[in-house]
Parts: sequence; structure tokens; C-alpha cells
Amino acid sequence: MSRKAEIPAQAGLDPAELRRDFPILERQVHDRPLVYLDSAASSQKPRPVLDAVQRYYTHHHSNVHRGVHELSVEATDLYERSRERVAAFIGAESARECVFVRGTTEGLNLVAQAWARPRLEPGDEVLVTEMEHHSNIVPWQQVCRQTGAELRVAPMDDAGDLLADEFEALIGPRTRVLAITQVSNALGTVNPVAELAQRARAAGAVVVVDGAQAVPHRPVDVRTLGADFYAFSGHKMYAPTGIGVLWGRLELLESMDPWEGGGSMIRSVTFEETLFAPPPARFEAGTPHIAGCVGLGAAVEYLEGLGMDAVRAHEEALLEYCVKELQAIPGLNLIGRPAQRAGAVSFTADGVHPHDLGTFLDREGVAVRVGHHCAQPVMKHYDIPATARASFGVHNGPDDVDALCRSIRGALEFFA
Ligand code: PLP
Repeated sequence: MSRKAEIPAQAGLDPAELRRDFPILERQVHDRPLVYLDSAASSQKPRPVLDAVQRYYTHHHSNVHRGVHELSVEATDLYERSRERVAAFIGAESARECVFVRGTTEGLNLVAQAWARPRLEPGDEVLVTEMEHHSNIVPWQQVCRQTGAELRVAPMDDAGDLLADEFEALIGPRTRVLAITQVSNALGTVNPVAELAQRARAAGAVVVVDGAQAVPHRPVDVRTLGADFYAFSGHKMYAPTGIGVLWGRLELLESMDPWEGGGSMIRSVTFEETLFAPPPARFEAGTPHIAGCVGLGAAVEYLEGLGMDAVRAHEEALLEYCVKELQAIPGLNLIGRPAQRAGAVSFTADGVHPHDLGTFLDREGVAVRVGHHCAQPVMKHYDIPATARASFGVHNGPDDVDALCRSIRGALEFFA
């Protein structure tokens, strides 16, 4: 039986065909065909996104929201249409709940500074998890230092799953914020966010979800999830860099003061007093990344065209195949075996430093990420300095997994 035939049904997506949507995948790296397994760090861009950005700059560019001339009207229209598309994609009730930001990092910092900082008091608690990306740890650490609140950490087990009883015990009357990732970038763990959010909200906490590694891989509905805020990055979901979204419940956004002042976020300004615009403009000071927003709208359209259920089924099947193949390599150690996995798998190889492994794979044209993945507490949990991580996009297929495994076997032999 061929390897391909061993893989569960691909749910209608044909990665060989989708690969043709991504011009960069036509290039060679070190005279080898590029095998791109680093979408968790940043995804490659399909032609419809590239075309939308180029079309925007070629035909429609001007600044938004400030002009009456035709180009400004067209740019504003494209910008706001992207917002509406994004809102529908994540199940927001209204486009007004979607604030354009630089990315997940900025979205999480915005919540920490504009929602939490004025509200937290000494003795209040912010609960994060052991598997958070640094961008869902550091902003909370900073706001705790600023307010006297305490940062608490929900631990995980060696499989990379949160410990339910410990989580439960950490939720209490002083829990004001639960900041949790939906999918771990380092381990691929899918957290049961809806369940945990319900528990946290029942205790009166606000739930902030890091959706950076979830939105590209599965259907997301922020309302069903029970989130209060939800942040994600365009560049991990086939859109340009420098653009992302912070979704927030409108009543929360309306209750917040802006965290940056400047043009576009005001209703009126005098030297005595400034009245702020309603959300989302209140949080979008200055000229935004208009082309990025246009590209993000095109990326959403691309994903909608594939169907997020199909994307999820395709990637889950591929991950399952990848885990099985990696397990069959003597000397390879999977880091984490979460009950539910999305997007990525981390591993180490006996006797090979992850950086050497990454360099060896690169020489074979296989791009994986090595390092701590901005999740040093995860590395500490496993008492390792780094892992190699393969992460997937819609264009990846079983042949990419086979190339990865072939190169890992080669590295193990080379460094033996
Ligand atoms: N959260 C998670 C889970 C991530 O994987 C990343 C990026 O890798 C981030 C947050 C930060 O995203 P960005 O650098 O786009 O702001």
C-alpha cells in the first residue's frame, strides 16, 4: 500500500492543486524543491491575496476615512469591507466589534492596557496557562506589576494538556481575567476553551483568547466560544504581515478608553477636551495598514472558498499521518501528545541539537522552525532548551511529511 493510501480521507482538499496557488512554493531552496513546514511562524501567501494587495496599490490607494475624493472613498470602502468579511468569518455580531491591529501581540497588549489596567486592583488575579506564547504572558505580567494584581498559571501535564482540576482550583472570586490560547503554537494542543471560558465567566472573569494558531486551521465562532476578547494575526492565515484583529464584545469595547491617541480615533478635539470616536475607530489611531486589511479580506475569502471544515479535516488527517510517521523514526522524541492537536508538532532527535537539525533539514529544502517558539515556559516544563517544530498549511500534503521524515532520518544518521 502506498503511503498516500494510508492517510485518512483528505476531505476534498487537494494539496497538490492548492500548492499552485502559492507562487513561492515554486522556488527552490539550496537547489531542492521547497517543503514549507513553518506556517505557524508565518504562512505563505496565495495568489488571490498577492493580487488583491497589488490591485489595491495599483488602482485604489489613498488614505481612508478622511477624503471625499474617489480614491479615498474606494480605499475606505475596501478597508471597511474587509472588516465586515472578517467579522462574519469569526461569528462577530457586528463589524464594529473588530479592531484592526498589527497582530495578536498588539491585540493582547491593547486588552491588557485599555481594559485591564484601569480595572485591576491589588489582590486581583490574572490567570494564564503554562503553554502560552510570550505575547499572552508578558502583557499580563506588565499589567500585574502596574496594578498590584497577581499572575497565576494553570499547569499542564506532560502530554501538553491543561490539568482540569488544577485549573478549576485556580478560578476564584479574585480571578478578573482568564488569558488563554485556543491552540498552543509550541505543542499544537487544542484547549477546550468554550468549557474553560464558561467556568471563568461564571466566576466573573473576562476571557481573553489568543486565536493566533486557531483561526488558520478551524472554524472559529467567538460567540460560541464564550470569549470576551479574541486576538489573531493575519500573517498566520495567508494574509500580509502587520495586520491582525482584536475582536471584543461591543459593550466592553465601548466601556474602554483608547490606549493610543491621534488622528482617526476622535470625534472632536479642542485644547480643553477630546471626545473619542466609538469603537472600532477609537482604537485605530493613525493611518492603518490599509493594504494589509485588503489582503486580510482576500485571505478570508480564500479560506471561505476552501471551507474551514474542509481545512480542518485536511490538516487533522495530515497531522495524524505526520505524528504516526515521526513516531516510527528511532531516536525521535515527540514533545507533547495532546488529546486534540492542530497545526503543529514539536520534536527533538537524540544526539542532535534542534538548531543543527533545523540547519540540516534546511539544506534539504525542508523549512521547519527550531527554538523555544516564544514559549519558554513550555521548554522549561520539558526541561529542554528548544524543539524542532513542523507546522502545516492547506498546501501541505503527505509528500511534505515524507520529505520531512526522510531528512530527519538523514540527520540522525549524519550526526550519529
Ligand atoms: N500567540 C501565538 C499562539 C502565536 O503562535 C503567536 C506567534 O507565533 C503570537 C501569539 C504572536 O503573534 P504575532 O507575532 O503575529 O503578534
